[in-house]
Amino acid sequence: MQPDDNNPQDEFSESTRLVHDSRHHRGAISPPIYQSSLFSFTDYDSMIARFRGESDHALYSRVDNPTVVELQEKVAQLEGGEACLAFGSGMAAISNAILSVAGPGDKVVCVNHVYPDTYRFLRGFCQRFNIESQFVDGGSPAALEQALQGAKLLYLESPNSWVMGEQNLQQIALLARKQGVVTMIDNSWASPIFQKPLAAGIDLVIHSASKYISGHSDVVAGLVISSRERISAISRYISPFLGGKLSANEAWLLLRGLRTLPLRMRQHHESALELARRLQSDARISRVNHPGLDPLPTSILSGYSGLFSFELSEGIDIPGFCNALQLFRMGVSWGGFESLVMPAISVLNQAGEFNSAIDFGVSPRLIRISVGLEDTDDLWRDLQHAIEHASS
Ligand SMILES: *Cc1c(COP(=O)(O)O)cnc(C)c1O
Repeated sequence: MQPDDNNPQDEFSESTRLVHDSRHHRGAISPPIYQSSLFSFTDYDSMIARFRGESDHALYSRVDNPTVVELQEKVAQLEGGEACLAFGSGMAAISNAILSVAGPGDKVVCVNHVYPDTYRFLRGFCQRFNIESQFVDGGSPAALEQALQGAKLLYLESPNSWVMGEQNLQQIALLARKQGVVTMIDNSWASPIFQKPLAAGIDLVIHSASKYISGHSDVVAGLVISSRERISAISRYISPFLGGKLSANEAWLLLRGLRTLPLRMRQHHESALELARRLQSDARISRVNHPGLDPLPTSILSGYSGLFSFELSEGIDIPGFCNALQLFRMGVSWGGFESLVMPAISVLNQAGEFNSAIDFGVSPRLIRISVGLEDTDDLWRDLQHAIEHASS
């Protein structure tokens, strides 16, 4: 799958393309926000042509708002896909994509440790519609191969967002293709900058754009990138009816986020890897989960994001640690400019009948951190101070 051959922007590198907009917009450096629900036609024939699919004249913002379309084109090119669809949340992207492939009577195979709401969607919602799901260890090719028999869809998340487990994407893509199973990956952790799953043979890529693509913790959005055919299976038969499209305003904020994405990812990579290394050599930390510490030879990651986790040893009081932090704030989500911590124990105490992280053995002593754009030494001092404060 190659980006459009006729696009003169293809000769430039990724970061240059992300700064420059492909459209002219009467010379405006920042593109306009098309804050309009509908788009009118100047004459009868152009309206009829639009409904015949003979023109790309904008129609209605649940379908084709121009600001949203501009974002979709930019992201499709960035991921190396033919087309992209933007949604009002990452979960809308995930549910629309899964439902475009799996239907009643089908089996979905999913790797362990996926995003908790993805797990709940498969285990709860999909089950009600007679879509069966089976969860497997994504690091075991033998377990995967066996589970794929008779499956319709394989859902991956690599690295995942709890223990940062990676899957061998190239090998898995081949395996699934041989068995006629469609593959889908949640690529939010790496962002499109550090991992291109379509080039490794994965069929559909999903992002929670609420994370790195936004980068400023002010948008909730989702994206699906794939071939024209797979995207049209969603845009023709699923998304118009479930709704859940992205607004023009939020698409504009994501276009803004994209301009600094390569720059931000470089900083997240550098700071988080440095903190992970320092934590690993600290005796009070019993384990550090960061894919850059002991890289898999089969990894297709070209860099590491700011999200990783570690386990505090028994002598450290977890509430004491969290409360003593000054720069790291306590919160869900990640991928923004600000550093965050999330104790896994909060998920353990979450009301609700099932939870992937705990079901799959995430330690209650696990602390997940999202390393933001603050100075690395300031963040290190904050962690050190909190660990000392919470040591008995
Ligand atoms: C946040 C997140 C999602 C869900 O995205 P929303 O935009 O919150 O709906 C999906 N996958 C991963 C890995 C996430 O971290």
